[in-house]
Amino acid sequence: MKRLTTAPNIAIGTLWADMLTASGVAASVQRYFASGIAGEIPPDQALPEIWIADDAQLDAARRLLAELRHPPQRRWVCPGCAELIEGPFEQCWKCGAVMPGVDGEGR
Ligand SMILES: [Zn+2]
Repeated sequence: MKRLTTAPNIAIGTLWADMLTASGVAASVQRYFASGIAGEIPPDQALPEIWIADDAQLDAARRLLAELRHPPQRRWVCPGCAELIEGPFEQCWKCGAVMPGVDGEGR
C-alpha cells in the first residue's frame, strides 16, 4: 500500500479511486470514515487519501491521476485546410471543417 495523494473531498476521492481501479490500478479511499470526528483532528489531516494497493503501480497511478485532473489537449489536423488545431475545439477556426471522428459517433 502506498499513498498516492489527498483528495479535496470524499466525492472526488471516490471518483479518483474508482477511475484508477477501472484503469487497472487497485486504489482505495482512506480516512473515509474520518468525517465523523473531523472536529477532533486538524482539517488538513481529515482529507480523504487515495491509496494504491500495489506499490509498483505508483508511477502509473500518478500518470493516470494527472490525466484525470488535466485532460490532454486535443490536437488534430484539419482535413479541409491542413491547419493544426490545438485545444478543446471540434471545429476548424479557419475554414469551419469539423474534426474527423466527431461526425456520427454516438450523436
Ligand atoms: Zn480548416
